[in-house]
Amino acid sequence: STKRAYNFNAGPSALPIEVIQKAQEELVNYNHSGMSIMEMSHRSKDYEAVHNDAIARLKSLYSIPDNYEVLFLQGGGSLQFTMVPMNFLNSDQTASYILTGSWSEKAFKEAKLFGQIREAASTKDNDYRNIPALEEIQFSQTDSYVHITSNNTIYGTQWKDFPQTGGVPLVADMSSDILSKPVDVSNFGIIYAGAQKNLGPSGVTVVIIRKDLLEKANTNIPTLLKYSTHAEANSLYNTPPTFGIYMLGEVLKWVEEKGGLEAIESNNEEKAKLIYDVIDCSNGFYYGHAHSESRSLMNITFRVSDENLEKQFLAEAREAGFIGLNGHRSVGGCRASTYNAVPYETCKALADFMVAFQNKNS
Ligand code: PMP
Repeated sequence: STKRAYNFNAGPSALPIEVIQKAQEELVNYNHSGMSIMEMSHRSKDYEAVHNDAIARLKSLYSIPDNYEVLFLQGGGSLQFTMVPMNFLNSDQTASYILTGSWSEKAFKEAKLFGQIREAASTKDNDYRNIPALEEIQFSQTDSYVHITSNNTIYGTQWKDFPQTGGVPLVADMSSDILSKPVDVSNFGIIYAGAQKNLGPSGVTVVIIRKDLLEKANTNIPTLLKYSTHAEANSLYNTPPTFGIYMLGEVLKWVEEKGGLEAIESNNEEKAKLIYDVIDCSNGFYYGHAHSESRSLMNITFRVSDENLEKQFLAEAREAGFIGLNGHRSVGGCRASTYNAVPYETCKALADFMVAFQNKNS
């Protein structure tokens, strides 16, 4: 049966049904090759076309300027926590990190291995309920870069306007909101994202990097961890995650068919509103973790006012077919991840379920 779950997983997470079905159709015999995309050489014509097509579609969707490279790497968002400072920070240099959640903390901790790291701002004292105001952010013009996490998967907050860092490259971990809305790429030195939320299956990591940075990077580091190695080889220095890149290409086509990033964004706004409205109209039965002005359109974090009722809510939701609503194991509570591929109807079903649960239990 093709009945799909109400999938609110935080990552890996829902992919568009159209993409899953297309992959299924093409799985056994891709483009008359007599094999699946997984079984062919990464140097073959068929694969190369898929690879270059995915790069071109990402460039076109984001209007990525010519002075940027799109790279397909491995190691997830987590290896980028290492690669960024390894390439761009020496022990006598500084970088500033804006701390907005656990993933920023991890990036910050990793960077300490390479150079002098400063907190440009942190909302930790506030349990990471908000994104700092732009005027709170402190960095130095001599920093090698400023690092931010554009969407905080665990706490459910998201940057709306990005800091302008002038001559200091802004590096953004967009793992959990890439492809969810238009972004002016020229504001960033580096954007990176693990694929397993909005882009495709886990295994491929997208990096968008300004070309002048490639020339400034450290050279005394391992070959495979140098951005320039991958840039010079069109991300084919070694075997890339070919199936993941194929899936990414199909997801990019799907986004185009949906009308591009503006259309995706308004879809995401409508979906998130369904659930936030239930929270806001519940007279405190449900309450959100994030301050309203910092709310994420991707990860909706909330609590049920009574602890036992919250357990009951999660158990009944599971029984009713809602998957992935438990908050991250580090914070508890509830979280609905409403990434691009989570249908409106799925969000509506959850909103209705939440209203019905409140009516029964208050
Ligand atoms: N950054 C963010 C914002 C994330 O949400 C995650 C994973 N959930 C990571 C980094 C780590 O990604 P990975 O598991 O791909 O290393």
